[in-house]
Amino acid sequence: MNGDDSIYNISLAKPKYAAYFMHPDRPNRVVNQEGRMEKFERRDFIKKASVVAAAGGAGLLAGCSSSQQETPSTQARSTKTFQWKMVTTWPPHFPILGEGADMIARWIEEMSEGRLKIQVYGGGELIPALEGFEAVSQGVAQMCHGVSYYWAGKSQATQFFGAVPFGMNAQQLNAWLYSGGGLELWEELYEPFNLIPMPAGNTGVQMGGWFNKEINTIKDFQGLKMRIPGLGGDVIARAGGSAVLSAGGEIYTNLERGVIDATEWVGPYHDYLMGFHKAAKYYYYPGWHEPGATLELITNKGAFNQLPPDLQAIVRTAAARANIWMLSEFESKNNLYLKKLVEEHNVQLKRFPDDVLATLRKYAAEVIDELVAKDPMSKKIYASFSKFQKDVGGWAELSEKVYYTGISG
Ligand code: CA
Repeated sequence: MNGDDSIYNISLAKPKYAAYFMHPDRPNRVVNQEGRMEKFERRDFIKKASVVAAAGGAGLLAGCSSSQQETPSTQARSTKTFQWKMVTTWPPHFPILGEGADMIARWIEEMSEGRLKIQVYGGGELIPALEGFEAVSQGVAQMCHGVSYYWAGKSQATQFFGAVPFGMNAQQLNAWLYSGGGLELWEELYEPFNLIPMPAGNTGVQMGGWFNKEINTIKDFQGLKMRIPGLGGDVIARAGGSAVLSAGGEIYTNLERGVIDATEWVGPYHDYLMGFHKAAKYYYYPGWHEPGATLELITNKGAFNQLPPDLQAIVRTAAARANIWMLSEFESKNNLYLKKLVEEHNVQLKRFPDDVLATLRKYAAEVIDELVAKDPMSKKIYASFSKFQKDVGGWAELSEKVYYTGISG
């Protein structure tokens, strides 16, 4: 990046902008403290700016790096300290998901040199596991780590930010959220609830779930009681099953005792740790219902706005780091544990038949059509989601799809 393509890092007396871009597709745009593009006149930049450090989170979200970034800020940093609580939808210190929440808190404390300390609570420790949305909205805790589809009871549209059946994969979801307008829509949706959402993890493509009977036709879902959250649950209901929403800590016992007949969870690594292979015979793929599940960090808006700009940037940076860390953990371990399940525990791996997947896809389209017809925010968000999926899919057709099916070893 040289000459007119350079990224200039600027500091104003009261810094509002983190970085200035001269880019052919983005003339006169700056990234503000929230990592968002804004219009900005070059003459204002020349008049007001001096070249110094960019805030870390805004720089990261904008995808920039700069050799000028390390210059220390001329501003005195606030020494005010903050003590926050983070609730989670996971059991305490749950592998990857709860660990990630613990790490977000640790990273924030390290980066802020102790100015923002966060006590993390597992589900049920401070509040019930699936009440984080309300708790953070009310300020009982300042943060919650979980998945947005757990809050469908608050707003149906939340589900589009968790996972969409036959929707986008992790990479495409991140592209939509960070670079395709998705995060702005997410913030708009949560604003009336006094919440600020951030992507903070992704599971990658999930598995289809654990069953004790074979799924040979769509009729095999009839009467099936399955733990499956979000829009995928509505699809199972349309197929004649009943969808149960339960937090991670309750699923194994419910499956073992026959309270539910089947469950989906995440993928081989995490499902192995959950022990589902001890309570179900068949392990189906693919995870049509969650081709990429985004985990979220929600923050109480009032509390976030009380933080000085550098702590706000630190929170955003920690969330972004968790986003890539969790996906990497799942991706690096899934194959190893898939082998363990099959070779050491005799799990029967099965692929959903094509006609079953085709019918589930048809039902998913119907479920979403009905939802967007009755809920304006769902309509607005899904319009953006589906357009992005179509556009990004065009590229995937001749990039990843060909790579995986044609030339990958
Ligand atoms: Ca799942």
